[in-house]
Amino acid sequence: MHSTRTACSTQASWAGPPVETPEVRTDLSPEALASPDLALSNDIIRTCVHCGICLSHCPTYQVRHDENDSPRGRIVLMRNMLEKGGTPDEMTVKHLDRCLSCLACEAICPSGVKYSKLIGQSREHIEAHYPRPAVQRGMRHLLAKLVPSPGLFRMALIAGRAARPMRSLFPGTLRAMLDALPGHAARRPSAVDRPQVFPAQGPRRARVSMLSGCVQKVLEPGINEATIRLLQRHGVEVVVARGAGCCGALSDHMGMAEQAQPMMKANIEAWLREAGAGDSIDAIIINASGCGTAVKAYGHALRHDPAWAERAARVSALAKDVTEFMTDIGLNADLVRPERTASMRVVYHAPCSMQHGQHIVHQPLDLLRKAGFEVAEPPDSFMCCGSAGIYNLLQPEIAGELKRRKAWSIRSVDAAVAATGNIGCMTQLADAVGIPFVHTVELLDWATGGPEPQALRGSKPPGSAQLEKAVSESASGPVAGSNPTI
Ligand code: SF4
Ligand code: SF4
Repeated sequence: MHSTRTACSTQASWAGPPVETPEVRTDLSPEALASPDLALSNDIIRTCVHCGICLSHCPTYQVRHDENDSPRGRIVLMRNMLEKGGTPDEMTVKHLDRCLSCLACEAICPSGVKYSKLIGQSREHIEAHYPRPAVQRGMRHLLAKLVPSPGLFRMALIAGRAARPMRSLFPGTLRAMLDALPGHAARRPSAVDRPQVFPAQGPRRARVSMLSGCVQKVLEPGINEATIRLLQRHGVEVVVARGAGCCGALSDHMGMAEQAQPMMKANIEAWLREAGAGDSIDAIIINASGCGTAVKAYGHALRHDPAWAERAARVSALAKDVTEFMTDIGLNADLVRPERTASMRVVYHAPCSMQHGQHIVHQPLDLLRKAGFEVAEPPDSFMCCGSAGIYNLLQPEIAGELKRRKAWSIRSVDAAVAATGNIGCMTQLADAVGIPFVHTVELLDWATGGPEPQALRGSKPPGSAQLEKAVSESASGPVAGSNPTI
């Protein structure tokens, strides 16, 4: 028997009432601890001193006021589940399913509990050992199939909009799916998402590969277009690599490693082919922070696969959010058009996957200010909006309450436009905040010479025709082909 005790190390600088710090024990057998994954989980659990500081930052605890829906309570549930092994009980699965994986707890924890790795390991354990009811299992597999495939997702979007007037006839998750559909019709696919190269404007300062993604390019294709224009304008050559697609995050979040890992490997292969094609790449640019967090974790996800571990770690090291990269190379102040931005107040919503998952906090704010916008944040900026991948489809009640609270918080800021860096948050909040909701990069592109973001003017951007004409010649050609500036 292996037993461990940890002492309370609550720091005096943390405000709040005195907290109880009961002994934290783990009791995994030596056989279980021989597994590197369980040994890692054991170490993480032992780091928790049960101080409870994370409770006030946990969205599900704030909504439900149930210890089992708090990080501290879930750590105990996960410890019990992993110690016991085998099939977890229904109550444990219910409370772990309710976790958003927002990582606010990890960000605030004074003891350094690596919650993300623990919940990831636990979700894989549940997926492997827990027989979910048939309807639930079918819905999860449907979503895992539908979401990463832009073609299927587009068809589902069109069918869903047609079915929305009959939403009351549909059961739980299906109704949540209809409610989560964007207010606008499916957009035309953008020509920029095909494999191709976009040359730098002026002397080339960097060469990057851009993840064109899956859901985002169906819902808001203008985001990739704005990203490419912004980068080109700053002297960056942008490659959309042949063979890259969905990052695998949504399946991974559901503990479905078998579905997620082939997508990860396809991306690794595609990007490293570019990196090794005689003209290396300086970064892999990602403009959806949920995907960025996933790609930065490829090294961890594939660590046990000797054929992929090293390459996966290489890709993770190259991955950068577009605002992270733009901060590194610097927004060119000479390009800024103050007449577009000076009088505009922006409320910036920080996605959890950006601020807690990747620790990117000040970069989007600084870039927007440098571009001339007046920027404010909502009062509860650390709190999740309830989107969390497909959480809003699987847990619509909690997600709906979090959406309501976040929308109120954003509306409390007197701003003309809301911006964020994650398509999930945009889709979750767009119909609730009462002002246009755009991606940060769309504002940066507009501020430095690009077209006005579609949400600001509610029409198809002028220039799209030229854009499609510009890329049409080489759009279906090899990656080595090159397109004019868009
Ligand atoms: S996870 Fe961190 S903040 Fe939460 S109870 Fe444990 S030690 Fe405290
Ligand atoms: S990841 Fe988010 S929802 Fe889950 S326990 Fe931590 S703070 Fe709560």
